[in-house]
Order: sequence, then structure tokens, then C-alpha cells
Amino acid sequence: MTGGSRGIGRGIVLAAARAGADVVTCYRTPGEAVATLEEELAGTPGKHQVLRADVADEADVDRLAAACEASLGGLDAVVNNAGTFRPQPYDELGPAEWAATLQGNLTATHLVTRRTLPLLGAGSSVVNIGSTVAFIGMAGGVHYTAVKSALVGMTRSLARELGPRGIRVNTVSPGRIDTEALDELPVEEAERQRAAFASFSALGRLGTVDDVARAVLFLVSDHATYVTGQNIHVDGCV
Ligand code: NDP
Repeated sequence: MTGGSRGIGRGIVLAAARAGADVVTCYRTPGEAVATLEEELAGTPGKHQVLRADVADEADVDRLAAACEASLGGLDAVVNNAGTFRPQPYDELGPAEWAATLQGNLTATHLVTRRTLPLLGAGSSVVNIGSTVAFIGMAGGVHYTAVKSALVGMTRSLARELGPRGIRVNTVSPGRIDTEALDELPVEEAERQRAAFASFSALGRLGTVDDVARAVLFLVSDHATYVTGQNIHVDGCV
């Protein structure tokens, strides 16, 4: 599970660990979020490892995969969650931001999936975290929606290629999720955004990290053994 120190990734890794899974996850920036994650994981039944590894960097991905192999042998699931997004008007979108968005989202997903593939056997699965904006578009997010759309195509092709080996591949596309990132905004701006995003949803609220984690746990579980190449929207929309 990539990118477990904050936000949605933290929710997924804790939900999996509480359900009894052994987990390996990674982050880039050391700090309190990593320390509290380790504390929370210590209270869960399985093995856990929280490593500093940048999934946009091939050498770090090698280290991460080697650590998974050393501590767990094989993997039942790979969840490509780590991703970055800096909104930018298209007129101002330079080559560096375009390349960073591609590397930090799509290429990172490719590097991790390709490198961990030898650890995946029949019955295992890959889940890529996309975004609902890949389907509806987003002003200021041309670069981000481009890579998140590409993830959906990558998922479908990988599902075809890996299906004969018994490996399933799916995407989960969250809508706006209420994470720490919103709390870091000035209070009024956070409330404005919460109200605006809640109004998009048929359920009248933002999603929670647990909403996303439950969809991921379903896809990697034995409840989804005939589900592959699919995208599940977790956005409260019709
Ligand atoms: P956050 O920025 O809150 O957290 C991202 C996590 O991933 C952090 O733990 C971060 O660690 C880690 N991470 C990011 N890049 C890397 C990297 N290159 N290598 C290792 N770790 C990395 O993100 P969210 O929880 O908001 O988003 C998670 C995923 O969900 C992303 O793919 C995002 O695009 C998607 N998504 C989010 C939505 C939302 O509303 N939040 C909506 C739709 C999709 P560190 O801080 O150390 O970099």
C-alpha cells in the first residue's frame, strides 16, 4: 500500500491492518504522521512495516519491493494510492509540473506494479486509486485528470494481461474526501469547500477515508473474485 502516512492511504492501511492483514506501506516525509501511524499499527494483530520510499523513484521502489519480499514473502494485494496534485490553470501549466504529475501518479503506479508483480500469485489483486474528476473533468486539473484517466486504461489492459495468471486489477475513484488536507486550510475556506463539494453528492456529504477503504477492502477480498478491470466510483454521486 503506497502512501500510507496521511489521508486516504492511512485509512486504507489501518482498515486492512485492523481486519488482520500484514501490511507494508511507505511515505516520503518523516514526521508526526508517520509516528502516530506506527503507534496505531502496533495495536493491530498482523505484521507491519512503514518505510520511507518515494514511489516515483525506481531505486526506492526496488527497496520497497525487496522489503515486502523479505518480510512477507509474497503479496495478496498491491494498492497504488500515493499521488500528488497541485492545481494549475492550463495557461500556466509548464513542462516541469506536467512531468512531475505524470511521474508522481502514473509512472509511480507503473513502477510499483511492475516491480511487485513477481510477488503476486493467483488470487491476488492490484487496486489503483484514481479520481472521479477523471470522468467529469476539472478546471485547473488538466494534468491530474489526464493521468487519472490513464490509470483507468492501464487498469483495464493489465486486467486483461494478468487475468490468465489469476491476478485481478481494478480502480477505485474517490470523489472529494474529507482528509487532513482540508483541515490544513483556513477554517472559512475549509467550510466553503466542504459545503461546495457536499452539494455535488447525492448523499449531501463529502466522503470519508473509511468510505474509500471499504471499497478497496472489498476489491482485494474473496467477495470480489470475479471482478476485474473495473472502476468503482466512491463519490456519493448517481
Ligand atoms: P494526501 O496528500 O493526503 O496523502 C498522500 C500520501 O501519499 C501521503 O502519505 C504521502 O506521503 C504519500 N505520497 C505521496 N507521494 C508519494 C510518493 N511519491 N512516494 C511515497 N509516498 C507518497 O493524499 P490523499 O489522501 O488526498 O490522496 C490519496 C490518493 O487519492 C491520491 O492518489 C489522490 O490522487 C487520490 N484522490 C484523493 C481525493 C481526495 O479528496 N483527497 C479525491 C480523489 C482521489 P508524504 O506526505 O510523505 O509525501
